[in-house]
Amino acid sequence: MKIICIGRNYADHAKELNNPVPKEPVFFCKPDSALIQKGKPFFYPEFSNDIHFECEVVVRINRIGKHIEEKFAHKYFDEITLGIDLTARDLQQDCKAKGLPWEKAKAFDGSAPIGDFIKVSSLSKDIQNLNFELSKNGGLVQSGNTNDMLFSIPKIIAYVSQFFTLKIGDLIFTGTPKGVGPIAIGDNFEASLEGKKLLQLPIR
Ligand code: ZN
Repeated sequence: MKIICIGRNYADHAKELNNPVPKEPVFFCKPDSALIQKGKPFFYPEFSNDIHFECEVVVRINRIGKHIEEKFAHKYFDEITLGIDLTARDLQQDCKAKGLPWEKAKAFDGSAPIGDFIKVSSLSKDIQNLNFELSKNGGLVQSGNTNDMLFSIPKIIAYVSQFFTLKIGDLIFTGTPKGVGPIAIGDNFEASLEGKKLLQLPIR
């Protein structure tokens, strides 16, 4: 499986990092070795001193597809959760400054913790009107609504599937709202979607 992440999908987050608001989706990938599941800890690596959290809605692809039309994109996923796109901001700044790819800063081991999946059919609200929150040590640090995405989930699926065949089990991280910040050893993160806690992540 592969993990596809959308960058700069909320205008307020693009602004906080002084990035332009994109005209088409920006995306990058993480390998399966980036996954952390079931509340297991993230171990802070030695190669960075500035790893940031980015809480994001994550959808799981449930059928194979290429060149998926936006109007049919909703048929290609049926489960959703929250994830944290962990980013070594110091390495990312260096990659950006040198015009190099981002993988070192974005795709390292453990950089994609995800929560428990829930069925999209169990949601009582539209997929583009979901509230989600991230707390750090009990204090709210990020809150967003999928209504604020620059590119909706169907648009993302349509766009990405022009380049990549989507396969069962692939995950799409759909971008983060504002409020990103650093993690530290000893922190404990919790993320909830529509008030339901889906993800826990201790930092060790
Ligand atoms: Zn992100």
